[in-house]
Amino acid sequence: MDKLLHKSFQTRAVHAGERVPPADFRPVATPIWNTVGYLYESMDDLDAVFDRKKQGQVYLRYSNPTTEAFENAVANLESAEAAQAYSSGMAAIHAALLGAGIKAGTSIVAALDVYGATFTLLNSIFTNLGVNIRMVDVSSHDEVETALKETGATVLYVESISNPLLKVADVPALAKLARKHGALLLVDNTFASPYLLNPLEHGAEYVIHSATKYLSGHGDALAGVVATSTANKNKLFELNKLIGGVLGPFEAWLALRGLKTLPLRMKQQCENALRVAEWLRLHPRIETVHYPGLPEHPQHELAKQLFEGRGFGGVLSFVIEGADKNKVFRFMESLSICLPATTLGDIYSLVLHPMTSSHRGLTPQERARVGIRDGLVRLSTGIESADDILADLDSALSKV
Ligand SMILES: *Cc1c(COP(=O)(O)O)cnc(C)c1O
Repeated sequence: MDKLLHKSFQTRAVHAGERVPPADFRPVATPIWNTVGYLYESMDDLDAVFDRKKQGQVYLRYSNPTTEAFENAVANLESAEAAQAYSSGMAAIHAALLGAGIKAGTSIVAALDVYGATFTLLNSIFTNLGVNIRMVDVSSHDEVETALKETGATVLYVESISNPLLKVADVPALAKLARKHGALLLVDNTFASPYLLNPLEHGAEYVIHSATKYLSGHGDALAGVVATSTANKNKLFELNKLIGGVLGPFEAWLALRGLKTLPLRMKQQCENALRVAEWLRLHPRIETVHYPGLPEHPQHELAKQLFEGRGFGGVLSFVIEGADKNKVFRFMESLSICLPATTLGDIYSLVLHPMTSSHRGLTPQERARVGIRDGLVRLSTGIESADDILADLDSALSKV
């Protein structure tokens, strides 16, 4: 405070109380480091940090301690060497593709039923930049292999559990195929979360999360993260210094806090989803149920093997018999526990109509090709009691 002795009220108002010297205690919970810049004892120290010869922080677009704590936690849960966080899942997807070397003249083979915004990112922005995109049904390994061969793709892009039809990708087999043809496997692991699957252990090169969903889990933060090797992380770090899709300290703190209950939430959400899927499948108003936990699901055995009995995820989708858009809208408006909000993976149960929300950007032809019908509803089960969710669905179904 000495420095402020005899300084004007105006100057003291700016500096008073700030920059206390480091203490000999550490906080138990990671604080929110809301600072853009950092001070060092000497300019030489700052110089060494810039050179990455000394650990430290420089500027909020580069990194900050709260975000680094979240990155380290995700890396740990994904069995990765490192992770890089982003301001959203889409920023993470875009960055991972750049990190994997995608540029004009390269090719990507991607799952046909990827997340709607990913579909549009690939087929508009990357296509316009001169990247060749081939979308295939990744449950057909022949189709994947043909596409990899024909395009000479350097990236194979899949979701571990797809949205909204809940197809399960055979990550170990796809990693082998990718390697055989000189491509890197990128896995969007948002739906499975690291609780069910660690794709890096099965040969993936980059694992991507919309941390907005299960990792944060409370529907109050937008975030993305990529888990990968240290070498790849360094590339992503350098890229993000220029692109700037940085996760802010407050969101990182929310996401880190969310991570702590991921196993508890996922366990309950998987149990609820299985109960609901088994119940819906016997309901007279329901035509089809998509859920990897049902024995008739085409990848049920694969899911059992990959997820090692921990569950089958917290998302299912179903077709209401003979329903068009209007009927689905009436159904969704009649629910009271399940909320019709455009997200998933929250503690709340959430319903969504893919045709008019997540896959709105697709033409009717594209939706038909992916298999998204007008009467399809996606349900992300929350951590409420399964009995209350079932009663809510039953009452709403009786009104359509
Ligand atoms: C939500 C989601 C994204 C996009 O993430 P944002 O955080 O909304 O940018 C990407 N992939 C999947 C599978 C998602 O569910």
